[in-house]
Amino acid sequence: MDLLQASIKSVSDAVKEKKISAAEVTKFFLARTERLNPQLNAFIMMNENALAEAHAIDNKIQKGESVGPLAGVPFGIKDLLCTKGIRTTAASKILENFIPPYDATVVTRLKKAGAIITGKLNLDEFAMGSSNETSFYGKCKNPWNPDYVPGGSSGGSAAAQSARMTMGTIGTDTGGSIRQPANFCGIVGIKPTYGRVSRYGIVAYASSLDQAGPMVSTVEDAALTLEVICGKDEKDSTTSSKTTPAFSNNLTSNVKGMKIGLLKEYTGAGNLDVEVEKNYLNAIVELKKAGAEFLEVSVPLTEFAVPMYYLIAASEASSNLARYDGVKYGFRSKFNDLSSINLDAFYAQTRGEGFGAEVKRRIMLGTYCLSSGYYDAYYNKACQVRRLLREQYLEVFKKCDALLSPVTVSPAFKIGERVYDPLTMYLNDIFTTATNLAGLPGLSVPFGLSSSGLPIGIQLTGSHFEEQKILNIASALETASSVKGKVPLVY
Ligand code: GLN
Repeated sequence: MDLLQASIKSVSDAVKEKKISAAEVTKFFLARTERLNPQLNAFIMMNENALAEAHAIDNKIQKGESVGPLAGVPFGIKDLLCTKGIRTTAASKILENFIPPYDATVVTRLKKAGAIITGKLNLDEFAMGSSNETSFYGKCKNPWNPDYVPGGSSGGSAAAQSARMTMGTIGTDTGGSIRQPANFCGIVGIKPTYGRVSRYGIVAYASSLDQAGPMVSTVEDAALTLEVICGKDEKDSTTSSKTTPAFSNNLTSNVKGMKIGLLKEYTGAGNLDVEVEKNYLNAIVELKKAGAEFLEVSVPLTEFAVPMYYLIAASEASSNLARYDGVKYGFRSKFNDLSSINLDAFYAQTRGEGFGAEVKRRIMLGTYCLSSGYYDAYYNKACQVRRLLREQYLEVFKKCDALLSPVTVSPAFKIGERVYDPLTMYLNDIFTTATNLAGLPGLSVPFGLSSSGLPIGIQLTGSHFEEQKILNIASALETASSVKGKVPLVY
């Protein structure tokens, strides 16, 4: 069996039929990781028990016990999700020694489905970034060209999957962190509707925006993985009790008669790269050939998505990150004599040393926006506009099944190019943040390659709980994609 080409379902079926063992599959991907990771720095922690866990799945199969739909399939997890007994750092020094006593619900569900967690993946510190350059554990590189960023914040997930160090990965998306790196690394990434997937056990960045989702090789793998991780969770009161559709069984690339909207506001926005534009226009041509209909629609408030997002995300982050104080857990600065230091100085020194520059910038921005006198003018105002944005989207979805757009204004950029220019970095999120603000599902599917050999994807955004529709359109695009069968430089 060609494990580099095989789908998650076919590998899991083969494991269940004992054509290949879970241990063999796991060994294969662990060996690839060992060989490729030094060049990419995608994995920052390995699960020492991965092989033993694979053997346990094989034993269950031997005994005829039932195993789940991901039996024996290796998965890498963004190091923002708690994994019982495996260090979880959020790529921050402040959580350097944190070993969670429990699994995030997403991890519990993957394990219950038989997946083998091989390790933890690199990210921007606390998921704040678009390039994976703010990680305390070093930059991660893009397998298509290691001089380029893999995107962020789930850069490790995208790079590991793109270089096939694993069969599937999980990322999180607060303002684009699944879709943007998936786009930069030529893989499929889906951010589910807010409330589809439990946030329990995910290190919180901006709680009203955060969602976890699959970052995998194909739309079919995305549908199957999504099905496993969705669902009501008592431990996260914002999860929806809607039943999870059988995304993978219902998957079709038939888009005949589907109505796809193109946002007027995105025309001419953000200096679109010519190759990205060509890719976008090609996608429209292919979908028209397949029988989809296009219409121009308008969501005027998307113009303010980036400022709204950075106000809300930084505010929530400043509150969420208050818990890292060096008292309860995580890193604590070295003090010669604790009895002689006052509490404020204790916090300041620990947090000053424990957080990186970008995280500190966001904490300061957020604290400012939430401070008395500014709360109404900034945070509250942004929340009000956010609600109006959501209503504008709902109007648009009365007319169309999904929206199509580029994911980012350009393909991956070079390492070091934007890291000292936060504003340019933030503007990278121009097409992705509105989806989170409105709680909508969104995905990125690879579609073309730039002349310099970097992947370019297409973004699809659906109405609430309409993941199936965007998966189906993505499946049609995947069929017509010119990246199909192409492999990155580091492979
Ligand atoms: N780039 C965005 C930010 O820095 C998105 C991050 C994310 O989705 N986690 O906040």
